[in-house]
Amino acid sequence: MTLWTDRVRPEITGALTGEVSLADDAVDARDVITVEAPFTGEEIGTVPAATEADVTAAAERARAAQAEWASRPLEQRADVLSRFHDLVLDRREELLDLVVIESGKVRRDAFEEILDVATNARYYGSRADEFLTTRRRHGAIPLLTRTEEHRHPRGVVGMISPWNYPLTLAVSDALPALVAGNAVVLKPAEETPFTALHVAQLLEAAGLPEDVFSVVTGRGSEVGPALIDRVDYVAFTGSTETGREVARRAGENLVDCSLELGGKNPMVVLADADLDRAVQGAVHGAFTNAGQLCISFERLYVEEPLHDRFLRRFAERTRELGLEAALDYGVEVGSLASSDQLEKVEAHLADAVEKGATVVTGGEARPDVGPYFFEPTVLTDVTPEMDLAREETFGPIVAVHRVADAEEAVERANDSAYGLNASVWTDDAERGRELAAGIDCGTVGVNDPYPAAWASVDAPMGGMGDSGLGRRHGREGILKYTQSQTVAEQRGPPIAPPDVPGVPRDVATRLYARTTTGLLRALKRLAEVR
Ligand code: NAD
Repeated sequence: MTLWTDRVRPEITGALTGEVSLADDAVDARDVITVEAPFTGEEIGTVPAATEADVTAAAERARAAQAEWASRPLEQRADVLSRFHDLVLDRREELLDLVVIESGKVRRDAFEEILDVATNARYYGSRADEFLTTRRRHGAIPLLTRTEEHRHPRGVVGMISPWNYPLTLAVSDALPALVAGNAVVLKPAEETPFTALHVAQLLEAAGLPEDVFSVVTGRGSEVGPALIDRVDYVAFTGSTETGREVARRAGENLVDCSLELGGKNPMVVLADADLDRAVQGAVHGAFTNAGQLCISFERLYVEEPLHDRFLRRFAERTRELGLEAALDYGVEVGSLASSDQLEKVEAHLADAVEKGATVVTGGEARPDVGPYFFEPTVLTDVTPEMDLAREETFGPIVAVHRVADAEEAVERANDSAYGLNASVWTDDAERGRELAAGIDCGTVGVNDPYPAAWASVDAPMGGMGDSGLGRRHGREGILKYTQSQTVAEQRGPPIAPPDVPGVPRDVATRLYARTTTGLLRALKRLAEVR
């Protein structure tokens, strides 16, 4: 089923005891990638670093498997999603162990991944027919033209994912691709391959045929381009910098792609907001997964009358957050994912402090808890020349800004190259929704940090500006994995000047032009009446 199943056998049950190891024969002399547990820095195991030849083999096997999969009735494909949904819930705890160990996030944050995967499996499993069934369309000439829109799978989808949500980003976007009749070859992040490998096993257990979903582990710079060159569509999630490279390569190949990229997400708190709820929302929105969430907040704009009280309560609540390297549900904040992440967070903070930012709370690495732990940090006095004012930190650092009014808040929220997620907090929900519509982000929560928009899978989700191209979820989230085909049958006279025996061609054509002009006028009147 996966290219590497025979080589790499993570002892998944070992995850239950906090250990994930490889069988002795797992890796031969080939180049390998070592995966570590961020909680402790210990090695979890190794996976092969695939070569271009490995990617070719995976893509060929996927292509061979795809045709049969696509020929199955949609109902059968949807049944696989339904069984996968149940399996993910049944095997929840073991999946959570694996995600926690591999990513260093805490269990309560990892649970959001279970929620996401189950929601997408249910949604696309039960609604795919609505999006994929062949539809009648208005024909060119009423009654005379019968037109249908078909939706065909693209073929093989290449999926490239980051490490921060190893379960969600391995499979939630793959589910609509699969139910639409595609095969998927996934390249997970180097840091989190084991969750992806386990997902492949669960999909197989849910009835997905061999090679319809496969995992190629390896380095991004090698496996990524090789994969893009061998697939019919690319679904990329990761940084904006890599996203640009992916888009360039996909463009060269004339292959379409979706890009879910970074963010510098703002939260706007108006003076009439419920203080407790807003503080709770800020903590959730800024420190989930230690801030390593593409839609988490790094900029807070608080209206003047509430600013001081908000800052005090937010700092207090942030200070109370417990950091711990443990598998239990009770832990509030986990580790950063790697030494690279820690370095970036420390560099952003040092730059900000040097340029005059004030650390209200936090600001320290916590090697006493684990090698990459960093305290949730609240800053004020952040100014535009600081790196963290504009660049994505992707860590537990949030800047609080005082603004005069809602208009200034929205203006400053929009002063960013990114446009992924935002939120507005106010007692006046209608005003909140109005302001939200004026923020240039793909999702905006009103009195909610991100889960409401993110879990509303019937609605599209994605980024504006440097935050990406294309959308996941809803109709757009599945139709991107299809190619439309229009089949039009002309039943009456052709839509062309007629050849009438004995009538000169110019006369027939003039008559045709006159009749067709009348028809176009009638069609416009009909459209206006409708
Ligand atoms: P990254 O761009 O470094 O890596 C993402 C993936 O791309 C990895 O699998 C990597 O191996 C691969 N890759 C690296 N070089 C490549 C290349 N030249 N061609 C093709 N693939 C290549 O990102 P990251 O550091 O793993 O993840 C963090 C970033 O992801 C943040 O910017 C975050 O905001 C973003 N992200 C966005 C979303 C979203 O939905 N918008 C979700 C999660 C994370």
